[in-house]
Amino acid sequence: MVTELSITVKPEEENCEKAVKNYILKSLAARNIRASFDEITPVFIKKSIDARHGQIKIVMRFEVYIGEKPKTAEELLPKWKHADGKNAVAIIGSGPAGLYAAFRLLEDGIKPVIIERGSDASMRKNDIARISRKGILNPNSNFCYGEGGAGTFSDGKLYTRSNKRGDISKIYRIFVEFGAPEQILTDAHPHIGTDKLPGIVSAMRKKIIELGGEVYFDTACTELVCHKADNELTVSGVKTKNVITGEERTFESDAVILATGHSAADVYSMIAELSPDSLEAKTFAVGVRVEHPRELIDNIQFHGKKMPQAAEYRLTAQVDERGVYSFCMCPGGFVVPCATSPDQIVVNGMSASGRNSRWSNSAIVVERRPEDIPQEFVERAEKDGCRALAGLYWRTWLERLTQEKGEGQKAPAQRLTDFLAGKKSEGLPETSYTPGVVSSRLDEWLPEEISARLKKGFREFDLSMKGFVCDDAVLIASETRTSTPVRILRNKETFECAGIKNLYPAGEGSGYSGGIGSSAMDGEKIAGVISRKLSGIS
Ligand SMILES: Cc1cc2nc3c(=O)[nH]c(=O)nc-3n(C[C@H](O)[C@H](O)[C@H](O)COP(=O)(O)OP(=O)(O)OC[C@H]3O[C@@H](n4cnc5c(N)ncnc54)[C@H](O)[C@@H]3O)c2cc1C
Repeated sequence: MVTELSITVKPEEENCEKAVKNYILKSLAARNIRASFDEITPVFIKKSIDARHGQIKIVMRFEVYIGEKPKTAEELLPKWKHADGKNAVAIIGSGPAGLYAAFRLLEDGIKPVIIERGSDASMRKNDIARISRKGILNPNSNFCYGEGGAGTFSDGKLYTRSNKRGDISKIYRIFVEFGAPEQILTDAHPHIGTDKLPGIVSAMRKKIIELGGEVYFDTACTELVCHKADNELTVSGVKTKNVITGEERTFESDAVILATGHSAADVYSMIAELSPDSLEAKTFAVGVRVEHPRELIDNIQFHGKKMPQAAEYRLTAQVDERGVYSFCMCPGGFVVPCATSPDQIVVNGMSASGRNSRWSNSAIVVERRPEDIPQEFVERAEKDGCRALAGLYWRTWLERLTQEKGEGQKAPAQRLTDFLAGKKSEGLPETSYTPGVVSSRLDEWLPEEISARLKKGFREFDLSMKGFVCDDAVLIASETRTSTPVRILRNKETFECAGIKNLYPAGEGSGYSGGIGSSAMDGEKIAGVISRKLSGIS
């Protein structure tokens, strides 16, 4: 028999098997289920911390096997086959969507051919170090581009528990198979950490190659090979260019998965040229990173109590008909430079598995709807033949403006209190953003509709988290890549790009997912569709 239940334990009891099992036995008895200590095998599902009312309690949820044993991790993993060479599918982008698409294809022995403009994780580390320490950006290998995609040098927060888009526990089990800690299967707010992610994605890539897949780094897709028949455009392969040697190649492919993330503006332009109606403007969000001393956030959230982990927060407000909210909060983390072109400044956040830096940061962003984009950007996009690109053009404009207000990759910054008071910060607190910051009047140059809402939002947040607005909090601009401003429309039945047959947009860049977990699931799902089509099961 298997049953699910929750127990509440003290922090010191959490790792004590005997105490946990005794609580479980009590909970079973309350349901009139009799079992002995040795008969039960609890499988941890998730835990959450209840820090309300000043007393810390841990709520743990279990699946309890009574008189039987749960499946082993190996039994739960999908069975991958060696590629049989009958079919090959090009996957553009090696982010979570691309990697999980590759593994799904291998379940049916279909060869994945991954084309990735950035470098492998170990080379990419050098590029990450160069931008972080010296502010020198490699436009093809950086925080957004390279092995594992935007998720590799990130916090690796895996908040998705929803199975709406697929089997999320399968996604996490595959991460564990390649080196992620087992707790991600059970923690309420799991995260992997940037110190572990590069090793994990490299191990995944090695397995894909071992199973007969191909992976090309430093190789950008420059063109989709298409033919037109009966007024329908169909893709049959991709043209690529090695970004280091300049070598050009053409890959023929039974289907093409486009998993290029939401930073690749050139890819959206490529689609716009081929099929402008396949793109649709969508709501996105922009704003700033706010960074506090970690201790300050811990004190607010844990009511002054010492806890082993850094505290998280999640804040939302409705301001003048637009959402203002925290996003990608990184407890004990770092603010990092995430531009993909040397003329931009884009910030984001990451943390190591220990979440032990001296700071805690989060994006605070304002919802931006297609109708909010200024007319001049709409007109430019219309002139270029694709109105849907207006939001992307505006995003690029803001990223360039941010750099004009900064200095190279030194980001413009302002104390939160000065932002609210409308004055320049005389001296900024030390931040985790290693390229450096320069004092700037964010309140003056950020678009008024953004800065006015941010101000109201911060004041509201300070009501629910007393002390959030303080002199030690610093705003670093600009956070622009929380999600894509453009959706690549998919046919609802075939999942192909609406105007280009055999092209399968997947992951965050397609506009149908956001974050590591949901993008991985989307890649999986799309590869499953292709696999069924290639095997004649549609
Ligand atoms: C610093 C940072 C921290 C983040 N933290 C988290 C987090 O904690 N939790 C979370 O869920 N999400 C986080 N995210 C977001 C998350 O990384 C993305 O949602 C996720 O990676 C999207 O997956 P994807 O596969 O769709 O696209 P991506 O991961 O963006 O991968 C796309 C890949 O395509 C490649 N590519 C682009 N154009 C081309 C081309 N023309 N030819 C060949 N290759 C190309 C890129 O180089 C890239 O590697 C973070 C992002 C960043 C930047």
